[in-house]
Amino acid sequence: MTTRPAIEVTGVHRVFGRGPTAVTALHDINLSIAAGEFISLIGPSGCGKSTLLRLIADLDQPTDGTITVFDHSAKEARLAREYGIAFQQAGLLPWRTVAQNVDLPLQLAHQGKRARKERIDHLLDMVGLTDFANHYPDQLSGGMQQRVAIARALAEEPSLLLMDEPFGALDEMTREHLQTQLLRICAESRAAVVFVTHSIPEAVFLSNRVVVMSPRPGEIRRIVDITLDRTSDDLRTNPAFFESVAAVRDALHNGAPAGAGVDLR
Ligand code: ADP
Ligand code: MG
Repeated sequence: MTTRPAIEVTGVHRVFGRGPTAVTALHDINLSIAAGEFISLIGPSGCGKSTLLRLIADLDQPTDGTITVFDHSAKEARLAREYGIAFQQAGLLPWRTVAQNVDLPLQLAHQGKRARKERIDHLLDMVGLTDFANHYPDQLSGGMQQRVAIARALAEEPSLLLMDEPFGALDEMTREHLQTQLLRICAESRAAVVFVTHSIPEAVFLSNRVVVMSPRPGEIRRIVDITLDRTSDDLRTNPAFFESVAAVRDALHNGAPAGAGVDLR
C-alpha cells in the first residue's frame, strides 16, 4: 500500500532559447498528482502541454523548479521504468507483429521467454487483440494500432502512464470506444495517467481532474474536479457530464481576450 504521490511538479519553468526570442513554454507550474489518479491537460495549441509531459518523462529538463515521480527524480523514475508512454502516432515497428511489438520493452528488460509470453497474452486480452497477435501493424486499423501502442506502454506494469493525444488521429466512434477501454484498463492496472487532449468531452469522460492551461506563458489557469458516477452506463448523456463539460469550457475561455476564440488545435 502506498500513499506517495505519483508526480510532484514544483515551481517548474521551461524557457526555450535566450534573449529577445526566448519562449517561455511553462511558467511556474505547480501540480501534485496522486497515485492512480487520472489527470488531463487541456488548453490551446502551444500552451506547453507536450512540454510538461516531456519534462515528467525526463525527455527534457526544466529551466527551473523540480519534478519528482514516486519520490524519485524524473530521471531515476525513467531508469526504473516507472512509466509507460503513448503518443498520437502509435509508433509501432512495421516489421514486427503485434505480439512482437508488445514484446519489445519486455525483451529490453531481459525478461524470460515464458514470463514474456504470459504477459503478452494478458496484455493483448486486455486491449481485445488476442486474435491479431500475429498480424502486422499495416494489417490493422488506426484504432487497433493505438491499442497495440497502449498494450506496449503497459507492458512493464508502469505505475504511471503518459499519453500525448493518443486518440487524436482517430474517428469519433473509435475514439469513444477506446476511451471506455482505457478507463477499464486503468482501473485494472491502477496506473496514474497524465493525458493530453484537445477534446473537452474526452477530458471530462476520462479524468478525475482536468488541468486547464493558458499560453504565453504556459500556465495552469484552473483545475476542474470531475466527480461523475463512472459506473453509470450512459455517462456521456448524463446531465452531470454536460455540467462538467460546461465547467471546463468556461475555464478555458474565461480570461481569454474578448472575441479571441480558443484555438484548440
Ligand atoms: P502544446 O503541446 O500545448 O501544443 P508545446 O509544449 O509543444 O505546446 O509547446 C509550447 C511552446 O514551446 C510553443 O510555443 C513551442 O513553440 C515551444 N517549444 C516547444 N518545444 C520547443 C523546442 N524544442 N524548442 C523551441 N521551442 C519549443
Ligand atoms: Mg502538444
